[in-house]
Amino acid sequence: MYTHPRKLADLHTHLYGCIHSSDFLEFLRDREVDWTAYQSNFQRVYGANPPIADILERCRRGVAGSRDDFARLFVFGDDDAGNFDRFQAKYDMLNHGGSSVGFSRGEVPLPVFIDEVCGFIHKIIAKQRRQNVGYIEQRMNLGKKFTQAQSNEFVRAMLETYSEYEDSDIQPRLAISLARDNPWPEWEAVQRAALGPSGHLLTGIDFCYLEEGYPPKDQRELFDAVKDFNRRRPERALAILYHVGESFNDKSLESAVRWVHEAAELGAHRLGHAISLGVDPDRFGEHSRSESVAERIDQLRYDLRHREGLAKFGVHVDVPKVTEELDRIGALPMDHQLTIEYDEEKLDELGRRQRYAIGCIRELGAVIEVCPTSNRRIGGINRPEHHPVKQFVANNAPFVIASDDPGIFGTTLAISCRMTRWNTLWTCPGPAGVKC
Ligand SMILES: [Zn+2]
Repeated sequence: MYTHPRKLADLHTHLYGCIHSSDFLEFLRDREVDWTAYQSNFQRVYGANPPIADILERCRRGVAGSRDDFARLFVFGDDDAGNFDRFQAKYDMLNHGGSSVGFSRGEVPLPVFIDEVCGFIHKIIAKQRRQNVGYIEQRMNLGKKFTQAQSNEFVRAMLETYSEYEDSDIQPRLAISLARDNPWPEWEAVQRAALGPSGHLLTGIDFCYLEEGYPPKDQRELFDAVKDFNRRRPERALAILYHVGESFNDKSLESAVRWVHEAAELGAHRLGHAISLGVDPDRFGEHSRSESVAERIDQLRYDLRHREGLAKFGVHVDVPKVTEELDRIGALPMDHQLTIEYDEEKLDELGRRQRYAIGCIRELGAVIEVCPTSNRRIGGINRPEHHPVKQFVANNAPFVIASDDPGIFGTTLAISCRMTRWNTLWTCPGPAGVKC
């Protein structure tokens, strides 16, 4: 592998999220696009109709300021920050403006879709190279729109595109994002590609998008299959990349910490975001939240399993009390919601649980991928003193800084790295994607 001591490595990006506004504008220039679905979702989420057609028309006529208007509409900036729905509403421009939706509906042939994606790969790499990035991993979600044969062809074509850079000063790699509800068909495509001529350019598998409702324990069988593949074919071993602890409104804070720890225990090599593992508990303040009986049972069993380790961090697990609770709630329906109250003492305990889990994850050898721009704009971590990276540094957690979606965020890896110096800088160049 080519290495350069002064170049940056970006280990957590999503291919479509890397597309820069100027490249997408160029792509749209001569295209007729039906924006109805994009506009209607945008209207629902933002309460305003995005003037995409008008902006594109002005861009075509070269009207001053129109390219900046397009960048503002395209980029999910600080002014847009709030939640995943808002991010998705902006991201939809890529889905509907490109061939993704058309391909899903059978309106666009596979070769056209592949050409489009591979064309964007070249543009993204050119941009990254100018930003001094020497190694970049791009994740691509296959979704359910492909047949098995189409998945195989698509992954092969992407890897072939990456192989064009093998002797250059930038090394792109691919990771395939699998569906959390049924990763098996895509796993088939991944194995086939890994053993193909450009399989060495395939980093591994990823799990992204919605995490709530998909506990890491559900992937045990798949993780075991990856480990088995790696034992049989060590020369083409695949990493398990797992987005976890980014969104956890549906569960207790200790369960959210546990999910990250469990993903590492199951064998994830890298943990995407892991906000819950290190976010300052003070960010939540005194409040109540709820989780299902099923989740609570998993948490209590975790506490019993880890009681000796937790005790070293000042978290006392009262075995008779936990056993009694398990018996009591075990009689309830599994989806019944329980309320959990957080006061100062419980928030303090959460910090100790985080430190225990961080120590375990360090021992397990998993690496945390910190994506500060996403954490601020999607994850709602808008005060630097609350950011988990502070805990990660204090507790020697192995972590990397990544840009996640530098195109739609209008940012760069260098800016992401600067943002993590939480005590000095927490700034970003606003919606001006044009600056990058
Ligand atoms: Zn991500």
